[in-house]
Amino acid sequence: MQTQAYLDLENQYGAHNYKPLDVVLTRGEGVWVWDVDGRKYLDCLAAYSAVNQGHCHPKIMAAMQAQARHLTLTSRAFRNDQLGPFYKEICELTRSHKVLPMNSGAEAVETVIKTVRKWGYQVKGIPADQAEIIVCANNFHGRTITIVGFSTDPTAHIGFGPFTPGFKVVPFGDADALEAAITPNTAGFLVEPIQGEAGVIIPPDGYLKAVRAICDRHNVVLILDEIQTGLGRTGRLLAEEHEAIEADLTLVGKALSGGFYPVSAVLSNNEVMDVLQPGEHGSTFGGNPLACAIARTAMRVLKEEKMIENASEMGDYFLAGLRQIQSPHIREVRGRGLMIAMELVPEAGGARQFCHRLAGKGMLCKETHENTIRFAPPLVITKADVAWALEQIDAVMRD
Ligand SMILES: *Cc1c(COP(=O)(O)O)cnc(C)c1O
Repeated sequence: MQTQAYLDLENQYGAHNYKPLDVVLTRGEGVWVWDVDGRKYLDCLAAYSAVNQGHCHPKIMAAMQAQARHLTLTSRAFRNDQLGPFYKEICELTRSHKVLPMNSGAEAVETVIKTVRKWGYQVKGIPADQAEIIVCANNFHGRTITIVGFSTDPTAHIGFGPFTPGFKVVPFGDADALEAAITPNTAGFLVEPIQGEAGVIIPPDGYLKAVRAICDRHNVVLILDEIQTGLGRTGRLLAEEHEAIEADLTLVGKALSGGFYPVSAVLSNNEVMDVLQPGEHGSTFGGNPLACAIARTAMRVLKEEKMIENASEMGDYFLAGLRQIQSPHIREVRGRGLMIAMELVPEAGGARQFCHRLAGKGMLCKETHENTIRFAPPLVITKADVAWALEQIDAVMRD
C-alpha cells in the first residue's frame, strides 16, 4: 500500500482528533525513520520526547523481548520480580524515597492530584473537600477531564465541561503571583519546569528556586511535571537540576520506556506518598513486569551511553547553529539541551508550511501553536546529523 491508501483508511475509520503530517512511517532506527514509500527522515520530534533513547534501541528491545517470553502481567494483586528492582533503580537514579508506577503521563498527573489532596487533608489539616492546587497558565498536563478542566487552552477544554473544581491558575514564570494565590487551603503547586506544549517556554532564571522557597514557606507541596523535560531532554537528568532544587513530587513518563510501552511514575518523598493506603489507588497495568523490565533498561542506557551529556552538548551546538541563521521569518530561537523552539514572526504565514517544507528536505518537525517549530530529536543525535539538520533548516528559512 502507498501513502494515500493509508491516509484514506485513517480518514474513513479513525476519529479526527489529530492533524498529523501526511507521512506514513514504517521503520525507525536511532534518529532516523522511514516511510512506506522508502523515504528517510530525521525525526526532530522523538514522539514528544518519548523516544529520547532513539528509535528501536537494541538493548531496550532485547529487554522487552526477553521479559515478554517470561511474564508480562500479574496485576498488583500479586507481586512480580521486576517491580522491586525497578523501584530501587528509579529512586536511586532520581534521589527519590518512593515511587508509584502508572502507564500514561495523564494517569501520573491524576495520581499526583489524588495524593496531594489526601496529604492536604491528612497532614496539612485542610478542611474536607477544600483543598486547592495551583497550576500555571498555558500548562499542558494531559487530556483527562480533570486535567483539561484546568487547561487555559480553549481547544483543550471547550465543549468538555463540567469540570473538577479545586484548581487555581497563575501566570507561568511569576513567583510573586504564586505566593499571592496561596491560601491556608493550598495543598500543592503543579508546574512544568519548561512549558513544552506551550512552545518551549523557559521561565526567568531563579523562578524555580523562588518557587521552591515559597512552597517551603507556606507548607505547599511542589510538584514538577517532568514528563517531557525529564530523563535527559534538557541536558540534565531532570530539569530541576538547572536550578539546583528538588521537588517534593516529580512526574516522569514518555522516555521512561524509551518509546516501547506506556510507562509513567510519580516520584515522591516519604511524607507525601505515605498517605496512600491499600485500595485507595491503582491500575491493572501499572507496575507490570514488562513495563518494569523495559523502564529499567531505558534508564540504564540513558546513563551508560551518556545520552544526557550528549543532549547538553548537541543542544548547545544546535541552538548556536540556529541562531546563525539569518531569516526575516524568525522572531526568536530558544531552548535548553535538545528541547529547542524556533518562533516565527506572525507575517511568516504559520509554522506548519515550514514543517511541510522541512519534511520535503527529510526532516520531520511539528509546529506548536501557530508560529513555533519545535526541534527535539532523540538524544543520540550526532554532531554530523545536527550539522545536516542545520543546513536543511537554513535552506528552508532563507527561501
Ligand atoms: C505528554 C505530557 C503529558 C501527558 O502524557 P500522556 O502520556 O500523553 O498522557 C503530561 N505532561 C506533560 C508535560 C507532557 O508533555
